[in-house]
Amino acid sequence: MKTVHHWIGGKSVEGTSGRSGPVTDPATGAVTTRVDFASADEVDTAVAAARSAYATWGTSSLAQRTSVMFRFRALLDEHREEIAALITAEHGKVRSDALGEVARGLEIVDLACGITTQLKGELSTEVSGRVDVASIRQPLGVVAGITPFNFPAMVPMWMFPLALACGNTFVLKPSEKDPSASVRLAGLLAEAGLPDGVFNIVHGDRVAVDRLLEHPDVAAVSFVGSTPVARHIHRTATGHGKRVQALGGAKNHMLVLPDADLDAAADAAVSAAYGSAGERCMAISAVVAVGASGDALVAKIKERAARVTIGPGTDPASEMGPLITRAHRDKVASYVTGAAAQGSEVLLDGTGFTVEGHEEGHWIGLSLLDKVPTDSDAYRDEIFGPVLVVLRAETYDEGLAIINASPYGNGTAIFTRDGGAARRFQLEVEAGMVGVNVPIPVPVGYHSFGGWKDSLFGDHHVYGNDGVHFYTRGKVVTTRWPDPADAPTGVDLGFPSGH
Ligand code: NAD
Repeated sequence: MKTVHHWIGGKSVEGTSGRSGPVTDPATGAVTTRVDFASADEVDTAVAAARSAYATWGTSSLAQRTSVMFRFRALLDEHREEIAALITAEHGKVRSDALGEVARGLEIVDLACGITTQLKGELSTEVSGRVDVASIRQPLGVVAGITPFNFPAMVPMWMFPLALACGNTFVLKPSEKDPSASVRLAGLLAEAGLPDGVFNIVHGDRVAVDRLLEHPDVAAVSFVGSTPVARHIHRTATGHGKRVQALGGAKNHMLVLPDADLDAAADAAVSAAYGSAGERCMAISAVVAVGASGDALVAKIKERAARVTIGPGTDPASEMGPLITRAHRDKVASYVTGAAAQGSEVLLDGTGFTVEGHEEGHWIGLSLLDKVPTDSDAYRDEIFGPVLVVLRAETYDEGLAIINASPYGNGTAIFTRDGGAARRFQLEVEAGMVGVNVPIPVPVGYHSFGGWKDSLFGDHHVYGNDGVHFYTRGKVVTTRWPDPADAPTGVDLGFPSGH
C-alpha cells in the first residue's frame, strides 16, 4: 500500500513516530494509502529546516523569488490533470470540480508572480529639511499553514505562494484525509527551483498542529477549517504571541426576493448547494425564500435537484461524488432523518442512495428540506453535505434578520431584479463575501477572501492585499543625509516636530 511521507528540507522524509492514518477512496470505501502522522519532534525538524532556509530565502532577490513562482506556475499548469486526479482519488469530487480547484489555486500563484508590485513600498521625500521617510514591508520568518480536506490543493495555495513570494519559509500541515495533492505541489516547487527547506510538509493530527501553534520559531499561522478548531487555533497561537488568521465554518444563505428570475435562482441554488456534494465552505446551504413566489421557487429547485447525476468522480457522467468519510456521510444523513421530527418538510430524502457496484462508497443523495425552523439542528449546524434547507420570510427585512442572526458570516447572496434592494443588502448583511445574482461569490485572487463572525478569527482575510499584509510586517525608515554646508544642529531635547 502506498504511504505518504512528510516533505522536509526539499525531499520526502519517512515518518519516525510510528503513528499513521488511513486515506480512503470515498467512491469505494477502500483504504488505498497510509499517511505518516508527525510527532512534536518531527515538527521541530521541519521548523528547523524552514528556519535555516529563511537565512537566505528571506533576503533573496525579488527576481529570484518571482522566477521560481513563474516556473512553478508553468509546472502547475502542465500538471493540472494529474493533481485533479489525486484530488478525486482521495477527496471524491468530480474531475471538473477538481480541475476548477486547481485553477483557483493557480490564480493565487499568478498574484505571487507579480509580488514585485505589491512589495514596492512607499517613499516621502523632504518631510523635513533633507529628511526622507520610507515605509517598507519585510517577511515574518517561518510561517505555518493548516488546511482542511475539502480543497486539498486550492486552500494550501491560498497561503504558500504569497507567503513564499514575500520571503517567508513555510511549514504546511495538510488534511490527513487527502494529503497527496500537497506533496505533489511540493515536488513541483522543488522542480521550479525553490531552495531546499523553504517549503515543508508535516502530516498528521492534533499532535502536529499543536506543536506548530506553540513553536517559538513559528511567527504566524494561517488556518482554514471548522469553527471549533479555528477558535482553538486562534486562541492557542495568539496566546503564544503569533499572528493568526483562522478561517472557520459557514452556513451561507441565499435570499431570493419575489421579483427574482426564479429559473436562474433555482439553477444557482442547486449548483451552489450540491456542487462538491455540499462540502464547500462557500456552498449555499440555506435559501431564504421571500414572499409568495416561495412555493414556485422550491418546486423549481426540487425538479432540478432530482435530475443531478451522482457517481464516482472519475466517471465523466457524474455531477456529484461521494462524501469524504463513512462517518461524515452518516452524520449528514442523521440531519435528514431527524428533520421531520423537528418540524421541517422533507421534500427530497437522499439517505437511501447508493451506486451499484460501489456499495461501500460514502454515498448520499440530494436532500431538500422546506419550511425549516430556525431552532432545528438542520438549520443551526453546518451540515457540510448535500442538504439544502429552505426558510420562508414575508419580507426583505424578515429575511435579512434571519441571515444576520446566524453566528456564521462567510458568504451570502441575493437574487433580485431590484437594484435598490441589492444595494441595501450589500451594505446591511453581516457577511464577508456577498453575491448579487452570484451564488458563490469567491473573490478573485487580487481581492481577498474571508468571512465575518464565527467564520473568521483574526483580522486579515486570505490572499489579495490582505494576504500580502498578513505575510509581511511594516517598517518605517526615517533618513537624514546632512549637507556638508549645514551648520551643526546642536543638542535639542525637544520632541522632533518635523519642522
Ligand atoms: P477540520 O477543522 O476538521 O480540520 C482542519 C485542519 O485542522 C486539518 O488539517 C485537521 O487535521 C486539523 N484539526 C482537526 N481537528 C483538530 C484539533 N482538534 N486540533 C488541532 N487541529 C485539528 O476541518 P475539515 O473537516 O478538514 O474541513 C471542513 C471544514 O472547513 C468546514 O467547517 C468548512 O466550512 C471549513 N472550511 C472553511 C473555509 C473558509 O474559507 N472559511 C474553507 C474551506 C473549509
